[in-house]
Amino acid sequence: MGIAGFGTDQGQAKADLRLIPYPPHVSFKGAPMRPLPSQFLHVAGDAQANTRVRAKIVADQLAACGIRVQVTASTALHGHQALFTSTPTVTKKWEQSCKPLRGLCAKPEGYRLTIASDGALIQGIDEHGFFYAGQTLRQLVEDGQEIPGMEIEDGPLLPFRAIHLDCRGWPPSRTCLERTIDLLASYKINVLVLEYERHFAFNSQPGLSSKDALPPNYLADLDLFALDRGVKLVPLQHCIGNLNYMLRMDPYKDLREDPRYFQMACPSNPATTDIFIAMAEDLIAAHSSQLFHIGGDQARFLGVCPQCKARSKQLGGRASLYLEYIGKLVRYLNSRNRHVMVWDDLFRNMSDQQVSWMPQDSILTFWNYSGHGGRATQAILPTLDRYKQLGRRVWGAASRLPTTKYENFDNIDAWTEAAEMGYLEGLLTTTWTREYALGPLLAPPEVAWPGALYAAERSWGGRKNATREEFLMRFASRFFGIVEPPVQQRIWGVYDLLVRDYPREAREVIHQVLPAARRNRETLEFIDAWCRMGAFNYYLKMFEQACAADYDHLQSGQADPFHAGRLYWRVEDLKSKIAELTQAFRAASGKISPSASCDEYLNSNLAYGIGRLDELAGLLEGYPSPEKEWQQPVKGV
Ligand SMILES: [Zn+2]
Repeated sequence: MGIAGFGTDQGQAKADLRLIPYPPHVSFKGAPMRPLPSQFLHVAGDAQANTRVRAKIVADQLAACGIRVQVTASTALHGHQALFTSTPTVTKKWEQSCKPLRGLCAKPEGYRLTIASDGALIQGIDEHGFFYAGQTLRQLVEDGQEIPGMEIEDGPLLPFRAIHLDCRGWPPSRTCLERTIDLLASYKINVLVLEYERHFAFNSQPGLSSKDALPPNYLADLDLFALDRGVKLVPLQHCIGNLNYMLRMDPYKDLREDPRYFQMACPSNPATTDIFIAMAEDLIAAHSSQLFHIGGDQARFLGVCPQCKARSKQLGGRASLYLEYIGKLVRYLNSRNRHVMVWDDLFRNMSDQQVSWMPQDSILTFWNYSGHGGRATQAILPTLDRYKQLGRRVWGAASRLPTTKYENFDNIDAWTEAAEMGYLEGLLTTTWTREYALGPLLAPPEVAWPGALYAAERSWGGRKNATREEFLMRFASRFFGIVEPPVQQRIWGVYDLLVRDYPREAREVIHQVLPAARRNRETLEFIDAWCRMGAFNYYLKMFEQACAADYDHLQSGQADPFHAGRLYWRVEDLKSKIAELTQAFRAASGKISPSASCDEYLNSNLAYGIGRLDELAGLLEGYPSPEKEWQQPVKGV
C-alpha cells in the first residue's frame, strides 16, 4: 500500500492508539483484527522455558480481558515468536511473514508486532522482547474489540528503566506490591528498586524489622514473579547515612558516628561493616538481581568521632575516609557477584582521581530533581561529562512526585535528553514517603502513578515519540480505562487540584470521573480518601484562624454570639464526621499498605486535629446554636 495520500489517516490512527510507552515505529496497513472470544496463542515449538513462561502470562492477561486463550506449540515458528489467532494452526502465510528483526527492534528487549485481520504475530529479539510485544498486544486488546492492521517496530532507549519504591512510610502490602510489579512490567519498566528499611525481615537482625515486614521466602517468590515479567527487584540497603531506624535502637547505638544523633553510622567501627554485610547477605539470599544499591548519601557527620577524625587526617580528607569504607563494601559485594549502585552526592565534590577509584562496575546514581524546563541543562551536563570522561557507569534519578506545572515531567524530560545524548545507562524515578528517615509521613506512591507512566514512556521511547499533551490523554485511557475525552481531561483536574491543595474540589471531580474508570479504581478511591483527610485539615485550619483572629473577644467571653455560636456548631459538626472519616481512610489505605502507617498518620494528623478542635470547642461553648438555616455544615469530609 502506498503511503502517499495516506498521511492524515495515519495521523488519526496514530492518535487513536493509546499505548504507553508509545512505540517509535508504527505503520498502519491492511484490515483490522477482531479477536474472537476464544483464540490460540501458537508459540514456537523450539521456544525456551523462559519464553514459554511468558507466553502463559500473556495468555492469562488476555484472558483477563475476556478472551479465552489456548497456548499451543507450533513447529512453523521459532525462538521468540508467537501467533495470536483464531485458527488452530499456523498458516504458510504467517510462516513466510517472519522476517529477520533489524534496527530498533533488534536491540535487546526489542520486538516486532504485526497485526492483520487473521492474527497478531509476535517476534521478540529475546524473551523480554517477546513479553513486551505481548504487553503491547494486551494494551491493544484492552482498548477495544477492533485492532487496526499495522506493524509496530519497537525497542528501548535505555537498557535500565527503573522505579524506586520507598517502603519507609506506607510500605506496600503484598497485594499492592504484586499489582505494582504487574502494572510496571506492562509499561515496560524493568527495574524496581526497593528501599525496605524495616519492611524486610532481616534474619540476621532480630528485633529490627517491623511486624509486617516481608519475609525472605516471600521475597524470593516475588523475585521470580517479577523476573518472569522482566522486572529485576533491586534492594537498597543504606550503608552509612539514613540509618535512623536502626541506630536509635539500643543494640545499635554504639555504631553512631555522633553519639547525639542516630542518623549516621561510624565507618571506622568494624561492627558497622559486619552488620551491613550480614544484612546484605539476608537480601542477597532473597534477590537474584546482580544490582545492589548501597545508598551512600546523608553522611553529614562524617569524621566527627575520634577514630574517623584521625583516620581522615591520615588519609588526607573525609572523602578518602568515605571511599575507603565504601570501597570495602563494594569489593565485598563484587565478590558476591553484585554490581553496586550508590547515590553520587559525595562523588560530585571529589577529585577525578577519587571518582576513578571506585571499582569499575559500580554505578553512580546521579539525582537532580529540578525541572530545567525539560532540557538537559548546565546544572547536570558538566557532571555527566566528567563522569563520562572518567568512564563511570551513570544512571540519572528523577522525581515522579506530582507537582503543579508538571515540573516532575520536565525533570524526567531533562534526564531523557541526557539519555539521548548518550550519558546514561538507566533512569531511576523516585518518590519519598518521608522527607528523612523517621520524619513525618508524606503521600504514598499511589498518588504518583502519572509520573511512573511518564518515566516509562520517556525512558523507553525518548522525547520525540509523542507530545506531553498526547500523553496526558493517553494516561487517563491507559491507567484508568477512561476513553471519553472530556472525562480524560477531568482526571488531570483531579491531580491538579490535589497538588494545589484543593482537596474538597478534587473530591467533587473524583466523583464525576469514578463511574467512567474501568481500571485501577482503587487508586482513585485512595486519592478520594486522602483528599477527605485534606478536607478535614482545611476546615481545622479555617476554624483555628477564625478563633485566632477573634481570640481577644473569645477568651473574655465577649465575642459576637451569632458568629461564635455558628462557629461552635461547625466545630462540633466537623467532630461528628471523624468516626466515619477514620473508617473510610482505614479502608482505602488498607488496600495499599499494612495498618501501621495508617495508624501513624491518624495518630499524627487526625489526633492533633481532634485535640485542637476540643480546645476550640472549649473556647466557643456557651454561645447559642444557630437555627438550621444558618448552620453551614462542613462539606467533603
Ligand atoms: Zn567514626
